[in-house]
Amino acid sequence: MSIEARTAATMTVDTCPGCGSSDYETLGEPGPPYDMNLSGEVFTQPSFEVRKCCNCHLHFKSHRLSPDRLGEFYGKLEFEEWEPDYLFPTDLQILNQLKKLDEKTSILDYGCSIARLSRRLAETHDVYGYEMDKRATAIASEHGLTMFGSEDELFHSGNQFDAIILMDVFEHLVNPTEYMERLTSLLAPGGRLLVLTGNGDSRAYNEDPAMFWYPRIMGHLSFITRAYAESQASALGLTLTEWIECCHYQTPLKGRFTQLLKRSLYRGANSSNARWWERFLVGLPPFRRARNWKQPTEYTCTKDHVLAVFEKQHSMKQNQAATKPDLTASTIGEESK
Ligand SMILES: [Zn+2]
Repeated sequence: MSIEARTAATMTVDTCPGCGSSDYETLGEPGPPYDMNLSGEVFTQPSFEVRKCCNCHLHFKSHRLSPDRLGEFYGKLEFEEWEPDYLFPTDLQILNQLKKLDEKTSILDYGCSIARLSRRLAETHDVYGYEMDKRATAIASEHGLTMFGSEDELFHSGNQFDAIILMDVFEHLVNPTEYMERLTSLLAPGGRLLVLTGNGDSRAYNEDPAMFWYPRIMGHLSFITRAYAESQASALGLTLTEWIECCHYQTPLKGRFTQLLKRSLYRGANSSNARWWERFLVGLPPFRRARNWKQPTEYTCTKDHVLAVFEKQHSMKQNQAATKPDLTASTIGEESK
């Protein structure tokens, strides 16, 4: 691909993808660009900063792939890479919440992929799913889920669900607030929306958001904060009943030490807000080669994820005014996962 084409394949996000506001603060320094090769095709994440919307408190990337390019990116991504047989700590958090539901209640897994998690509930509950990837949809069907063939079919089905799972999906959405609203419309009164995603309030992330592993994933665009969750709950007639911060991955002690050391060396060499001992460490002879590291290192052992549980109030009061954004002004594009 030519340099011109690559430039056109990316875009700047100058208004909040949640509410359309152009009032934002920049968090930390820009992170470096990188390329990702998928089956011989190169996708470029441009240099970006993380911005915090002053209106709805959503965090978002300033530069990302354009909607068309994102579609091509997901078309090349093999879902098998993200779907191991075992459960992650984040999966267990969701299962713990769903255990509170009675048997035979109805659950929708939105963006379920191959239903690695929700297939475990298919024998005891009525489990429905929606997934953009048709190959993954076929696999989820084999595991006992009733799959919707399209978003139209889902949103016009007339179904109401006792629980909706949005696991590792929110961060991919081009228009996350619109999806919070649309999914809330599918909840039965008293039903629960479980959003599992990156934690925009996490301390490690906030030290250097654009150099933190989670926003650096190419398809990750938006990041939830508790303030955003509370503002959306208020706007959509929901109650935020749980805010559970957790790790996505299980990391043994030795792995945690290695991650912390590498992160400290990278920060010592590259970050203007590095701690004194991080600068000191990277000056020691055994570690000086870290000065040549071009990309931030993996650091997945902190509570960088969150499970936000929302309960739909029985009265259908919708408090749309102050914090409810004007969606017509937002950067709404194709839903992407
Ligand atoms: Zn906003």
